Amino acid sequence: MNAPQEKGPIVGIDLGTTNSLVAVFEHGAPRVLEARGVSILPSVVRYEQDPAAPGGVRPVVGEDAKARAVEFPARTISSAKRLMGRSIDDVRADLPYLGYEVVRGEYGQARARVTLEDGSSREVTPQEVSATILRELRGLAESALGRDVGRAVVTVPAYFDDSQRQATRDAGRLAGLEVVRIVNEPTAAALAYGIGTRADAREGETIAVYDLGGGTFDVSVLRLTPSEGEGGTSFFQVLSTSGDTRLGGDDVDHLLVSLFAREIRGLMGDDGAGEFDLSSFPPATRRALKAFGESVKCRLSEDESASVRIQINEGLVYERVVTRDEFESMITPWVERTLGACGRAMRDAREHLGDGGVDAVILVGGSTRVPLVRQRVGEFFGIEPYTALDPDRVVALGAAVQAGILSGEATGSLLLDVIPLSLGVETAGGAVAKLIVRNSTAPARATEMFSTGVDGQTSIKINVLQGEREMVEDCRSLGVFELSGIPPMPAGIPQLEVEFLVDANGVLRVRAHERRSGKRAGLQVVPNHGLTRDEVERIERESYAHAREDMTRHRIADLITNSSLDLKWIGERLDRFGDKLDRASRDDLQKRIKSVGEMVGRARTDWRSVEPNALHAAKEALDRASVRLQEISISESLRDGER
Ligand code: AMP
Repeated sequence: MNAPQEKGPIVGIDLGTTNSLVAVFEHGAPRVLEARGVSILPSVVRYEQDPAAPGGVRPVVGEDAKARAVEFPARTISSAKRLMGRSIDDVRADLPYLGYEVVRGEYGQARARVTLEDGSSREVTPQEVSATILRELRGLAESALGRDVGRAVVTVPAYFDDSQRQATRDAGRLAGLEVVRIVNEPTAAALAYGIGTRADAREGETIAVYDLGGGTFDVSVLRLTPSEGEGGTSFFQVLSTSGDTRLGGDDVDHLLVSLFAREIRGLMGDDGAGEFDLSSFPPATRRALKAFGESVKCRLSEDESASVRIQINEGLVYERVVTRDEFESMITPWVERTLGACGRAMRDAREHLGDGGVDAVILVGGSTRVPLVRQRVGEFFGIEPYTALDPDRVVALGAAVQAGILSGEATGSLLLDVIPLSLGVETAGGAVAKLIVRNSTAPARATEMFSTGVDGQTSIKINVLQGEREMVEDCRSLGVFELSGIPPMPAGIPQLEVEFLVDANGVLRVRAHERRSGKRAGLQVVPNHGLTRDEVERIERESYAHAREDMTRHRIADLITNSSLDLKWIGERLDRFGDKLDRASRDDLQKRIKSVGEMVGRARTDWRSVEPNALHAAKEALDRASVRLQEISISESLRDGER
């Protein structure tokens, strides 16, 4: 049974147009590999003369090649994927964008010609360029894993034809890798989310994969056909694909650059009748402007506004704030173009889909971080898209899942139809409130109401936790998000509804809604990623071992929170209305406040130093002793209201 393991792991590779990644399936989950700080490798190769290297030429791969591409355009190859398995006639439309020379090779195949330092030239096939990238990824994987790697699953776009797929296999062979399977990128994205990896995969489940990168856009509609019989894996049928090979985040950078350039021109006193030519800017300025544009774009994915400040020359500074609203109206036509392609893909898939929609939408590619993209895609398909996994890594992760299935490694992974560990949120005092308890079946849903513990809190942090223990420090944080923009209210007044929803694929959506202000925020995660059966068992054992201690600790944490609220509330009223009480009652209350306060103080420094029943009894006694004071305060405030 273990035979495949002896050959070393099978890795999963996302061989992308702009970036490439390698991942592995280990301990029940896929993981992107990293070595020497590199995990995302730019798919760029520069050729340098080196008498010591085989053939006298040495390739430089990745970040260095990308960073200096503008300096050495004639010997830097990027986007080789666009040429893979294509003839020169197929790629004619791409040529103006490539920056290097493309020539006709054997059988009319496109290949690149690079001009070296001494003016000599050399032809390289796209397979060779891709092989150089794959070799680098193989080395990265070997360093990260500390063992030889000889086999890989490699992903390709769903629309790749046979000769493009064959060229990809050839590139693998040149890199010394046996390509055990070629997988469609959208299929890999679905596998990364666990779709189709369960024994109970749903017949006919349909998935749209929306992949918006830097320079390309693809949308695919897939249908899942579960395997016949035991142990097999499901099969994804590509119902349709659509897209645009010249549409991506770069266009957005360009829109911003045009805006800046136009305004800078205006600032310099050249109102040039509206029209201007960006190419009249020197290349270094254009590059700097593009970097400014990209950074503003990325910041606007998080913030409501972003600003740039460009020193044009001595005494002349261009400063500009771009708001999310302005940005969104600028990019609306760009987003709508992608939706046009989604419409075409859905129409083409109709004959298989009937009138139904898709069951899941997966977002892939860095540009899907733009909130307007997420929102419009969700509206278009009528379903909230999956965003739990990093859109830059999801394809590589899925390739690793496929590799894990092929090597038998993934069969021991967690079944997703039960939720193996409890899910909850952090509450005051570092305790955990569990919303979904372990062994619930997916899909599962739970909601709970919370409030604030401090007056005037305008934002609430929500820490999403997994585990069986009672305190935050003994659980695993799956993510934190913030609900902000809440108007200041006294402690306990905000009404925060938190909803947990685990769907059939095991993806958890957490939504928080403050009812009084209407503010909402949320988070998506895949709780089972990174969990193995062994780990789940260990966590269970620990929770039994600590059960009693944990219960006490949780109780103390809750008592501290509630007692502190009481102390504050009663203390304030005693200050205001204490003179309306008889002396004995006032003294008694003061004594009790002091004693509860001391216990809370001690419990805060060391929870073991206070007996929970004693604290509970003291708090209850304080509450009882304050009844008269509460009555006075109510009648006083009613009287105030009458005036
Ligand atoms: P990819 O080709 O998938 O690596 O995607 C790269 C594109 O994603 C580039 O255009 C990036 O500028 C864009 N991108 C990366 N991060 C963000 C972000 N936080 N917000 C908006 N766009 C982003």
